[in-house]
Amino acid sequence: MALNDKVALVTGAASGIGEQCARKLASDGATVVIADLNLANAQKVAEDIVANGGKAIAVAMDVTSEEAVNTGVAETVNRLGGIDVLVSNAGIQIVNRIEDYAFSDWKRMLAIHLDGAFLTTKAVIKHMYASNKGGAVIYMGSVHSHEASQLKSAYVTAKHGLLGLARVVAKEGGPRGVRANVVCPGFVRTPLVDKQIPEQAKALGISEQQVVKDVMLKETVDGEFTSLEDVANTVAFLAGFESSALTGQSIVVSHGWFMQ
Ligand code: NAD
Repeated sequence: MALNDKVALVTGAASGIGEQCARKLASDGATVVIADLNLANAQKVAEDIVANGGKAIAVAMDVTSEEAVNTGVAETVNRLGGIDVLVSNAGIQIVNRIEDYAFSDWKRMLAIHLDGAFLTTKAVIKHMYASNKGGAVIYMGSVHSHEASQLKSAYVTAKHGLLGLARVVAKEGGPRGVRANVVCPGFVRTPLVDKQIPEQAKALGISEQQVVKDVMLKETVDGEFTSLEDVANTVAFLAGFESSALTGQSIVVSHGWFMQ
């Protein structure tokens, strides 16, 4: 297995896409760190991975707090010896028209997606450099790293920003064997999406069925949601890629919603 002897820290891994990424990386041989704001759920995911023969620990981490990130990364390195793969995935969604978008919500969104990506990269990359083995940094972008949608000013801004961060990390990390890429999923049925279906229906004055069919899946080639497995398999592919040829890129998994 490509990831044997690797340690992979996944933020926001107590639910949804992050959880599935952690499960896939563990099944490919990595020791996974379930880093999440919600420690109780993170522990449940880690215990379940272990019960199924994998290697996992849970750490509490609020990715918007430099102290919490540094503490969680230090705990990981103390317990597991280093970190080879970072999946910066923790995220939320807040939908509203720009004229109604609370500044506090804008700041919260950018803090979780962008401060979180910056702080975790900063804390982890030192250990990748120190190990002389390099590493892989994977940011959870979105089709909204490339496209815009109504109601999502802060989210689209944050997800576009991750492309820039990944390219800088690819340039700085390249000479030391650290690759950085962005995975950009279409809509995946997770709590983050389930919550916004009624919210979008209300804001746009349409039914929930119309939100799914005419907003979320309209531009896909087959009207299908992207699956958790689709995203996790792409993350695992990037995590295990053997050379520095594949860096500074974004890979879109969206049933053709966005084509580049
Ligand atoms: P989710 O709500 O199922 O899971 C998000 C996880 O992040 C939760 O466990 C939550 O506790 C954690 N989290 C939230 N704030 C945090 C913080 N400050 N520190 C640490 N952990 C925190 O959501 P999801 O759909 O799995 O989304 C995961 C990522 O995938 C997000 O970055 C999201 O933007 C991205 N994404 C999702 C979709 C989709 O359709 N679901 C599509 C494209 C991209």
